[in-house]
Amino acid sequence: MEIIIADSSGLCYGVKRALQLAHHARRRRKGRVLTLGELIHNPMAIAGLEKKGIQSVRNPGSIREGTVIIRSHGVAPAVYRTLAKKRIEVVDATCPIVKKIQRLVEKLATAGEEIIIVGDPGHPEIKGLIGYSGGRGRIVENEEQARRLPPRKKRSALAQSTQDLSLFGRVVAALLERTEELAVYNTICRSTQTRQRSTSELAARVDTLFILGGKNSSNTSKLYQISKRLQPNTHFIESARQITPRLLRGAKRIGISGGASTPPEAIEEAVARIRNGFEHQSHRESIIQWQS
Ligand code: SF4
Repeated sequence: MEIIIADSSGLCYGVKRALQLAHHARRRRKGRVLTLGELIHNPMAIAGLEKKGIQSVRNPGSIREGTVIIRSHGVAPAVYRTLAKKRIEVVDATCPIVKKIQRLVEKLATAGEEIIIVGDPGHPEIKGLIGYSGGRGRIVENEEQARRLPPRKKRSALAQSTQDLSLFGRVVAALLERTEELAVYNTICRSTQTRQRSTSELAARVDTLFILGGKNSSNTSKLYQISKRLQPNTHFIESARQITPRLLRGAKRIGISGGASTPPEAIEEAVARIRNGFEHQSHRESIIQWQS
């Protein structure tokens, strides 16, 4: 039995940085330390933060005092204004890559461009980006929606940092049919692209694949959708406990991939669980490798 872990599985740079900033704030600041929304889309990691006294709140309007951490997804300018009015201390953990996309949206809006943002309207990063578009941003989720847009002489298109690259490509192709001059900015972050590529390569190599991460994580859900198309025996799990003997039955080559919010311990637990599941079946060594 072989276990293969996809390259770039687990915490991305932006989420690691946000966690470090939150822990640093907890050590240095008195009073409450709050995150605006969950800092990381992983129930285990959230429970760990709560134990350390870092709670999450949803609504900036409900905060009265303390220090607020802006998570890696970033927020709209109106949120900074609300917090400033209340004189709340802010630790801005917006991922620098997301900041760059926010600045791009702002610049295109100032130039009077129509901005097509390819992403999930309910995702916090998209809510933040729309806030920088000065009313010139339009969210498009897929190619069907892009085909329904009115024809235009000029447009710009960019993507949520965790967007599926092939979906972005299909939306761009649909936009080209309705736009004379289309400026395309590939704003999908490099670690997302590497993770998607290595997970789809892995899906083609294994007979069973586990995608590990929070069900509320957009990038993990996309990994699952990409993999399921290539390997029907793909399972979306939130923790190692969901790996049952039934799922392992007959498996010889098992892949694991984790989203940008999946801590390394969660991947280690999944490996241990799979190894335990095979203990009684065979004396053959389980081989663990990272796909590069
Ligand atoms: S997925 Fe990419 S852009 Fe998003 S937080 Fe992680 S490193 Fe930053």
